[in-house]
Amino acid sequence: MKRCMVSAMMLGLLLSQAVQTREKEMEQTRSALPAGIAKSDFGKTKEGAPVELYTLTNAKGMKAKIMTYGAIVTELIVPDGAGKLGDVILGFDNLGQYFGDHPYFGAIVGRVGNRIAKGRFALHGATYTLAANNGPNHLHGGLKGFDKKIWQAEPMESADGPALKLTYLSKDGEEGYPGNLTSTVIYTVTGRNELKIDTSATTDKATPVNLTNHAYFNLEGPGSGDVLGHEVTMAAERYTPVDDTLIPTGEIAGVKGTPMDFTKPATIGSRIAQVKGGYDHNYVISMEGAKTPVFAVRVREPRSRRIMEVLTTQPGVQFYTGNFLDGSLKGIGGAYKKHYGFCLETQHFPDSVNQPKFPTTILEPGKTYHHTTIYRFSAE
Ligand code: BGC
Repeated sequence: MKRCMVSAMMLGLLLSQAVQTREKEMEQTRSALPAGIAKSDFGKTKEGAPVELYTLTNAKGMKAKIMTYGAIVTELIVPDGAGKLGDVILGFDNLGQYFGDHPYFGAIVGRVGNRIAKGRFALHGATYTLAANNGPNHLHGGLKGFDKKIWQAEPMESADGPALKLTYLSKDGEEGYPGNLTSTVIYTVTGRNELKIDTSATTDKATPVNLTNHAYFNLEGPGSGDVLGHEVTMAAERYTPVDDTLIPTGEIAGVKGTPMDFTKPATIGSRIAQVKGGYDHNYVISMEGAKTPVFAVRVREPRSRRIMEVLTTQPGVQFYTGNFLDGSLKGIGGAYKKHYGFCLETQHFPDSVNQPKFPTTILEPGKTYHHTTIYRFSAE
């Protein structure tokens, strides 16, 4: 009888211990980050909002550091030809510098990336006026675009690898644009050494949308000088010529026989002197309009032997060779001088909202904007 009671008590004790352990495990699962994701504090905004920095790491050691301010990729660490891991984008190691004046390093630009002529457009009978923050034109979403907003972060486990979902609600009228627009960006560091960027958006009023990442790459590393020796190949036979304020003239011109032609491999520096101001042009991707990402650009850097391929569902890519960098910004790689980085901003064409012949950037309520861009890294 006594023995029976003791066994029952022990069983009860064991059961309650098991329940406690299970509860503890479940609690840990709830609070733990998925495999390959780490989180740290990066500081606070002037208004006191905390900024989180996430590090996504794949099994091969490729890393992307992304913060909730501006959905900015602050570091992108990939192997070189000798297998050595190193950063390939221009950035800062502290939040304060990101709050200062900088040309959109690593950020998601929006609601409309690139330029809108004179900051004006008409839509469904109404005229909208936006900030002219780039000479006479509107650039990258205005005075306080998506690159200067805090995004809500949700770390995720995905079949492709560690991922971070960032969401931002841009209210109706923000920066002059119509409609409450909810945008999400999912960054994934895949097992194939890719940074995959999925962007989506929905709205409650018709609005233009054009989201892109504005990372400046230097495949040799952010401290290694200019990018003129990088060799570029583009699946783009046409581009959109621009006026003196970098607004497309409306023409879609062939690249053949011009310094704009990268259909065959050419270094950035080989003909840049023939391009007024340097490359800052939208190329029309040959297979534009694809539902799954298609090959757009390949960049090879001979010294590090790193290769980056860009695949996208977007119809265009803005090739910008850091023409306005002037050495006044000092970041992870020292002073960022002219041509120390290049951008490949996959996107819709500039000023589409005023150019009836360009693919539309208008998102209507009930529809979903969705694009995917992949930056794939390898080495030779
Ligand atoms: C534009 C450049 C501009 C840069 C930084 C690029 O997307 O095409 O003209 O200087 O962004 O603002």
